Amino acid sequence: MPEDKIVNCMTIDLEDWLHGAVSTSYPITTRVIHNVERLLRLLERYRVRATFFALGKVCEKFPILLNMITTAGHEIGSHGYAHEPVFMLTPEAFRDDIRRSIDVIVSQTGTAPKGYRAPGFSIDQRCLWAGPILTECGLAYSSSIFPIRGKRYGMPDAPRWPHRWKECDLVEFPLTTVRILGKNLPMCGGGYFRLLPWPILSWAIGKVNREGHPAVVYMHPYEMDVYEVNNLKRQGYPISMKKRFMQSLFRSRIHGRLNRMFQLYRFGPMAEVLGIERSQERRLVLS
Ligand SMILES: [Zn+2]
Repeated sequence: MPEDKIVNCMTIDLEDWLHGAVSTSYPITTRVIHNVERLLRLLERYRVRATFFALGKVCEKFPILLNMITTAGHEIGSHGYAHEPVFMLTPEAFRDDIRRSIDVIVSQTGTAPKGYRAPGFSIDQRCLWAGPILTECGLAYSSSIFPIRGKRYGMPDAPRWPHRWKECDLVEFPLTTVRILGKNLPMCGGGYFRLLPWPILSWAIGKVNREGHPAVVYMHPYEMDVYEVNNLKRQGYPISMKKRFMQSLFRSRIHGRLNRMFQLYRFGPMAEVLGIERSQERRLVLS
């Protein structure tokens, strides 16, 4: 496929920073609504449609969110209900979490999600029982495996491109990596997207496209919120120096970078890129 015709995936994990990244015991704040509004405005400006992997608890607290997102034409996937790492759960608890999240999405949108993203990319060798449970719950694809050797997550030997799970019919669209000197390196989202220089990020997406594959870019609405972490610190939340550094440094770059990226590359919702919305036909050739 010619590089300029490749449609990449823009994916957003819909959660609130204080609850999703600091502690699930903290409240889900209204900041998530303002941050989603900012993101929707930007996506609208470039006519980019994305996939929002929605956390059940967040949507339950603020039902307006899924309404805003679906009205703007984006895809809704599941990010689970309570944001517990999958490898920490029993298969039974995982099934309950997924079912609960799907129930919230169906009750608010009338449509069952096709896709799933694990909290913190937490599907790895320890919990490959998760795939058959996702298919049992009606999900067609997952974008949960990071083929890197990370501290908190990763499955370095996993395939880098869309493929079917060995354990079931589920399609996996792994998080994008760039292969350099025999290593898979993450670049296209989260902290990597904030901290690495823009020319490297832009080159990475282009390289993946030149190799004939769509890239998966991921982010969270809170990354649009430049002053959030300092404000919460001032309100007395115990946020460590390391967390402030890792999760808020250069948030101010995100808006400009998204603008540049949307000007240079094409993006669409993941179910469409995979061709899953068309009665299970796959537009991409799966390995
Ligand atoms: Zn998350």
